[in-house]
This record gives sequence, structure tokens and C-alpha cells, in this order.
Amino acid sequence: MSAPAPTGVVVAIDGTSGSGKSSTSRGVATRLGLRFLDTGAMYRAMTWWMLRNDVPVDDPVAVAARCGEPEIVAGTDPFAPTITVDGADVAAAIRTPEVTGAVSAVSAVPEVRARLLVLQRAVIDGALENGGIVVEGRDIGSVVAPDAEVKVFLTAEAAARAARRTAEEGGSDVAATESSLRARDAIDSTRAASPLTKAEGAVHVDTTPYTLEEVVDLIVHMVEDAR
Ligand code: C5P
Repeated sequence: MSAPAPTGVVVAIDGTSGSGKSSTSRGVATRLGLRFLDTGAMYRAMTWWMLRNDVPVDDPVAVAARCGEPEIVAGTDPFAPTITVDGADVAAAIRTPEVTGAVSAVSAVPEVRARLLVLQRAVIDGALENGGIVVEGRDIGSVVAPDAEVKVFLTAEAAARAARRTAEEGGSDVAATESSLRARDAIDSTRAASPLTKAEGAVHVDTTPYTLEEVVDLIVHMVEDAR
């Protein structure tokens, strides 16, 4: 008699900009041997393509009309996540201030969300046959994977987030970083389509007083308990 097919676990990690979602999610995935999906990178890739093709990003009708065109592929190796648009590596290009400043407007367009949702669910389904996946974003526990076995909502105080993000980017203007993070959170939390929110069943973790390692440990234990 053959053993039943192994089913994978889905870990949904949502939260505010700069709360440590990416480092935490990659840390959890590498510790548990799971795949990793950065959905923010997909929204950034869509935004990069819009800017590149001179689509006015503050015009939702124009963005909706073109959002089916780019082919966006996110790699799920937590040690080396990749993101391509029409085959081109855009990992660095999607982190520019220009993309960061435009991404929340593009992400608020329902047609953009519908398109990326299909891609995200396909990646998750594929990973379930390989042990499972840690998925990070803003609407993972609420919309993309509402049945996730573990849901976490990460936040941190704005000053701590700005200090961390400025250090990561090698910059020095913490005040400008803080106002950019706050602006994105405001748009992401108040949009009509899939706003940033703590999903039902999610555990809220304020990471301000903790090290990355401590937060990873906490979530690893949550996953082990859920299995
Ligand atoms: O995670 P990151 O900061 O790279 O995300 C960039 C932007 O993508 C967010 O500010 C948000 O506007 C959008 N996003 C989203 N839904 C997700 C992930 C990201 O709307 N699941």
C-alpha cells in the first residue's frame, strides 16, 4: 500500500512596509526547508513594467488596460529569490525609489490584483507538492491563502522600521524613509481592493523589541505546532 501524498504547509506573513516581513519570511522558509514567495516583488515588477512602458500609473483605467501584458515570474528559492519580467532579471530595478513611489497606486487597481492573484495561487499550488511555502505580502492571510495553516501579521514602530530600512538601503535620510513607509501604509490600508489588514486567525507580532532571529524562532515554533 502506498503512503498518502505528502501535503505541504502554507505560512502567510502579512504586515506593514519595513516590518521585517522579507527577512523573516526567508528565515522561516530556510529553517523549515520550505519555498518562499515575495508577492510585493510581483507588484513591484508590474509597476516597473508600467513605468517602462510610459503607462500613467496614477490612471487606474490605463493601468487596468495594460496589466495583462507583462509576463511576471517569481522564483521561490528562499536562498536566492528571483523575479523576471518578460524574461529579464528585474531584481534590482524594482527596488528603485521611482518604483517604490508608484507601487501602491498600481497595487490598488483591482485588475492588477486579480491577475497577480492567479499567478500567486499557481505558485502556492506548485509548492504544496514540495513541502509547502512561506508567502509574504499584504493580503495573503485574508485573500490569497485564507486557509493557510499559519497566519502572522507583522508590525513594528515606524521609527524602528525606517531605521532598519535606511540601513538596508545604505542610505542616511531616516526621516524621508519613514515618510515613504507611512505613505505606502496609508494607501495600502485604505484601498478598496484587498487592503492591508490583519486576517482572521492571524497572530499579531510587533517586532520592535525583537531581533530577526527571535521572530524567526517564534514563527518556526508556530509552524511546528500547527503540523
Ligand atoms: O512588500 P513590498 O514593500 O515590497 O511591497 C510593495 C508594495 O506592493 C506594497 O506597498 C503594496 O502596495 C503592494 N503589495 C500588495 N499586496 C501584496 C504585496 C504587496 O498590495 N500582497
